[in-house]
Amino acid sequence: MICRIPGVRGAQAYLHQGRDGLVVIDPGYTGSFRAVLRFVEAQALGRIDWVILTHHHIDHAGTALALCQATGARLAVHAADAPYLQPRRPRERMTLWGLADRLPSGLARFVVTCAGRAARLLEDGETIAGLTVVHGPGHTPGSIGLRSESESALFLGDILNNERGIRTPPWNVNHSHRLALRAPHRLQGLSYERAYFGHGPAIMTGADQCVRAFLTRRTTAPALTG
Ligand SMILES: [Zn+2]
Ligand SMILES: [Zn+2]
Repeated sequence: MICRIPGVRGAQAYLHQGRDGLVVIDPGYTGSFRAVLRFVEAQALGRIDWVILTHHHIDHAGTALALCQATGARLAVHAADAPYLQPRRPRERMTLWGLADRLPSGLARFVVTCAGRAARLLEDGETIAGLTVVHGPGHTPGSIGLRSESESALFLGDILNNERGIRTPPWNVNHSHRLALRAPHRLQGLSYERAYFGHGPAIMTGADQCVRAFLTRRTTAPALTG
């Protein structure tokens, strides 16, 4: 079961329920944990096992600490993005969000522990609660996609968005734009029916073909790269 959680500010937040537990992917901007809790309660889904972040940006991760504290869920984030959730985090060059270096104090104090337990640091290729990690660095060093075999679905975070058709994030929000343009090629060998983006509507059929078509178009028409 996959659903988008309504009422979350910032990026889109998703629930994924598989045999290996209930997961919230990118719970959203600061304060959004209440909307997540309301929804999980209304749907009578039981306890949240994991909060998984596709990357550290505040519109995806801002409420992660509060959600973990409220539910006892554990946090998982790619190892390369974990330092951004710690005090004395690496200096990020200023992005369009401008938010990157202005984390709320609660999150800045977060260190990489959650509800008293250490966060799980993810690596490419590993599986967590039925979701396989695909590391696609560029937008941030630890940006990941998450593939659900049971749902034939891929969560893309900000590796690609679908706001005005499929595209890579603009240069001014990327940690390394050069790598961000290459990151979606990591997805090319995967097969999945549905795609869920951090921003923009989901694609519910033939999503892998749509992403492949986008990558082919971009390779064959470099002048249109955006
Ligand atoms: Zn985003
Ligand atoms: Zn982002």
